[in-house]
Amino acid sequence: MGVSIDKSHKQGNALLVLLLALLLVGALAASFYLSEDGRTHFILWFLATLAAIGVLGLFLLAIGALQISGRGARNDLTKMITDGSSDGLLVTDTESRAVYANAHYMALAGVTDGAPVRPIERLFTGASDVSEAVYRLVQAARERRTHMEEVRMAPALDGQAGVAWYRIRVRPLLRAGRHESLWTVTDVTQDRKGEEGAVQELQNAVNFLDHAPAGFFSSDPSGQIVYMNATLSGWLDYDIAQHLNGGLSLSQIAASGAALLDSAAGVAGQVKTEVIDIDLRKRNGQGLPVRLFHRVSYGHDGLPGPSRTIVLNRSQGEDISEGRAAEVRFARFFHNTPMAIATVNRDGRISQTNASFARLFGDTLKADEGERNVAAAVLEKDRAALMEALSAAAGGQSDVSPIDVTLAGGLRSARAFVTPVADKQSGDEAAILYLLETTEQRALQEQFTQAQKMQAVGQLAGGVAHDFNNVLTAIIGYSDLLLASHRPTDPSFQDIMQIKQNANRAASLVRQLLAFSRRQTLRPQLMQLNDSVSDVQMLLKRLLGEKVELDVRYGRDVWPIKADVNQFEQVVVNLAVNARDAMPGGGKLTMRTSNVSDTQSQAYNYKGLTPADYVLLEVEDSGTGMSPEVIEKIFEPFFTTKEVGKGTGLGLSMVFGIIKQSGGFIFCDSIIGKGTTFRIFLPRHLLTAEEMNAPKAEESKAPAQDLTGQGTILLVEDEEAVRAFGARALRSRGYTVLEAGSGVEALEQVEEHGDAIVMVVSDVVMPEMDGPTLFTELKKRGYNYRFVFASGYAEEAFKKNLPEAEQEAFMFLPKPYSLKQLVEAVKQVQG
Ligand code: ADP
Ligand code: MG
Repeated sequence: MGVSIDKSHKQGNALLVLLLALLLVGALAASFYLSEDGRTHFILWFLATLAAIGVLGLFLLAIGALQISGRGARNDLTKMITDGSSDGLLVTDTESRAVYANAHYMALAGVTDGAPVRPIERLFTGASDVSEAVYRLVQAARERRTHMEEVRMAPALDGQAGVAWYRIRVRPLLRAGRHESLWTVTDVTQDRKGEEGAVQELQNAVNFLDHAPAGFFSSDPSGQIVYMNATLSGWLDYDIAQHLNGGLSLSQIAASGAALLDSAAGVAGQVKTEVIDIDLRKRNGQGLPVRLFHRVSYGHDGLPGPSRTIVLNRSQGEDISEGRAAEVRFARFFHNTPMAIATVNRDGRISQTNASFARLFGDTLKADEGERNVAAAVLEKDRAALMEALSAAAGGQSDVSPIDVTLAGGLRSARAFVTPVADKQSGDEAAILYLLETTEQRALQEQFTQAQKMQAVGQLAGGVAHDFNNVLTAIIGYSDLLLASHRPTDPSFQDIMQIKQNANRAASLVRQLLAFSRRQTLRPQLMQLNDSVSDVQMLLKRLLGEKVELDVRYGRDVWPIKADVNQFEQVVVNLAVNARDAMPGGGKLTMRTSNVSDTQSQAYNYKGLTPADYVLLEVEDSGTGMSPEVIEKIFEPFFTTKEVGKGTGLGLSMVFGIIKQSGGFIFCDSIIGKGTTFRIFLPRHLLTAEEMNAPKAEESKAPAQDLTGQGTILLVEDEEAVRAFGARALRSRGYTVLEAGSGVEALEQVEEHGDAIVMVVSDVVMPEMDGPTLFTELKKRGYNYRFVFASGYAEEAFKKNLPEAEQEAFMFLPKPYSLKQLVEAVKQVQG
């Protein structure tokens, strides 16, 4: 170790010492010129003065007012430490001159004896980043701040090759009223080199892992791949740098097998390793058969950490042991089948599962990972049957019949097959459970059953309605006759009016039933949805009242449709009334019309909606909404949630019937508390050339005012009451009426009266011979009578039974009819 320099103390003044010496010599010389006596006197005085000065000095020294300087006094502990410190220490004054430098600093600065000590800024020079750091240090020193920098010097200060790192610190000092700076220079080259080495080692490790002859990846519990080595990414053809950042997920690389690797909650502190043979999926979709060693450890909270998964490539050529080909093939079959397979023990505990099983039960069996039991996978009601089947199989029974189960959660269903385990080596595995998901089929079946039920109810309702129609025709008819024979001033007149009005109300109920059973008479005609909605708009406003806002949005260029205008209005009114009832506190009813193209219709995803061009009417309310259970039933006749006397439950049934009969579809979406939207899809009608040229809807002929007439009319009707009323009604208008209770009777009447008859009014459905048959029979015999057919059934239905060419020769009269309607029809046909 060299020596330090210390200029922290002022050197004595040589001139002052010389002067003092001269003074002493002068005084001595002067004493020779004095007398003996005077000399003694002088010397005494001189010595006394010196003694006084000495005592004074001792005093001053004692009270500390005087210090004796010198090297020896500063050779204390602190100085020893600083001088010998392994850091370079330098103290500079404000002028940047070295006041003190320890030996280490001198060595760093390469100061040889006598040479001036270079300050920091002259010592550390070179690269720009070094001078910048030094500049910051000097600046800090000037501002009397503490500051530290680390600089990299190449070559090192001592001139050795290679690089060296120095940490330089500056700290302000205040000594004896003077500002100075303390600089500390530490050589940190060794530390830095150590760090560099560690990084290098890590890189080597990663490199080893990256190019290991096995794949490796780690996935976090959310299914994201957090690491994948180069070998695996090479196999799967992923660019790690690109894909790991972009978020590669387990389901992307493991496809259907991802569910198998899904790490569920486990026992705290447990480490679980599974060996799984599956196919991974390459970037191009190809499969890569592999064996995975999948290890997951669980934290203290039982939650899984990231996986550590080793991937062995089992594809041909890469397989580690060729003899395993069969096993690989089996594993692929096992995991790629759509059937969920699991082996279970006698108590239903699951031991092995395939990918489909994991997928089917992924969520259900996750919750209780500790005890994975098939019993937990199905609903309570199916448990007993499943366990029974399992124990039968466990007992060796090979023909256990399959059972249908609903999976836990209640949304999905499956058919379960159970077979015994053949070889008894496989631990306590007792049976194999195969499950085929049947959710879709079930839904279809339920839909089908529902449709059948509606059909049956419809048939019943239709039958009842038909009989009712005859009764109502008689009641309405006789009331008409009575009304005709009473003056309005007559007290009975009002009563008869009441009877007729009530019969009419009953008739409108029957009409709804018939509409539902799709047996009513529709008169489809070309119509514009926008026109008919706008026609009822005023009526709707009145129906909805003040509290409900009506917003109608007409689509542009809405295609024409073919439907019964009156019936369609009934549809709109019914939906609006229901919406109003669902918004007792007020709200908003929005109606929208629009075109829905073939492709757009597919996007709706409604079951049963066949893709085609449609015109769509949406009716949306902001009302109470409905629960899924209610929605299921709304179209059923007599289903109502309204109080007795408020709802008939027929409104939507009728709507449903009319829409179906028009070839359309109706769907309902509803959210409780939010509101309900009904969507009606009506098939677009493509205009024929004829229709395009046809003049705008010709106004229906003004009804004939004079309803009296003459001539003989043959009235054929099996219901006596209806026939009697009809006969009286026609006679009262001046006609001669021949009555027949059946088709056969009618033929007899014709034999007898033949040419006198001008027209036949006939029921359609009659025993023995129905109306249309009578019509053709008479044709055969050469009688070309004009016909009025009366029926409660759909016009379309009976038209089919008549030859196309003849259809102009008759008129259709829907039942129940009033007196006026009957005579009008007769008058019209008579021409
Ligand atoms: P009704 O109106 O006589 O009850 P409907 O066949 O018209 O019979 O309707 C059947 C049931 O459907 C109603 O009772 C009601 O519960 C429900 N419903 C129909 N439309 C709506 C709607 N817009 N909002 C809420 N519920 C409705
Ligand atoms: Mg209703």
